[in-house]
Amino acid sequence: MSAVNHELSSGKLVLRQGDITRSRAQAIVNAANSSLMGGGGVDGAIHRAAGPKLLQACREIVREQGQLPPGEAVITPGFELPARYVIHTVGPVWQQGRKGEAELLESAYLSSIRLAEEKGLTSLAFPAISCGAYGFPVEFASELALKAMARGLEQTGLQEISVYLFSERDFSTWTAQAERLFGKGIEEE
Ligand code: ADP
Repeated sequence: MSAVNHELSSGKLVLRQGDITRSRAQAIVNAANSSLMGGGGVDGAIHRAAGPKLLQACREIVREQGQLPPGEAVITPGFELPARYVIHTVGPVWQQGRKGEAELLESAYLSSIRLAEEKGLTSLAFPAISCGAYGFPVEFASELALKAMARGLEQTGLQEISVYLFSERDFSTWTAQAERLFGKGIEEE
């Protein structure tokens, strides 16, 4: 698996190409939808890998607090995943940038980071929230996301944040963006 590692003063930010369900981070983030009932894309992959108890846990959350609005996050166990927790957040659907999508995307990352911090976690892995079915332009999303992750490393006890890019094309867009923001990273296998 390809990876590019950026050692920032406040921690490690790693871009990886591959499947987030294989991540060894203490928590992985799910790009869920407001119903928390699972779906396609990364959401479907996480539910398949975690097993049916994940859906039960999500149902309970919705029963207690209703649907999850875009920009917010909740946490469940990871069940059969290598990760101990799944943090479910909802990114915005891209609507030509006229509906506060940038702020909502930023908030999806920052709320997830805050929840990880509350649990005292040191490692967290994200997918490219909103960059699939929700249609957010990938280059713009990568800039917002990487800046939010760098801020998260500075402001919390997190030591490592990874972002999993599923396609080779997204991986190259995100690694170019990271190089622009943080300088050249270290390539790893
Ligand atoms: P959204 O509805 O937030 O756009 P999607 O799941 O449709 O969420 O897509 C988000 C990103 O997750 C896309 O870039 C997609 O290629 C990627 N993706 C899909 N499956 C996986 C996986 N198993 N691991 C990591 N990323 C994945």
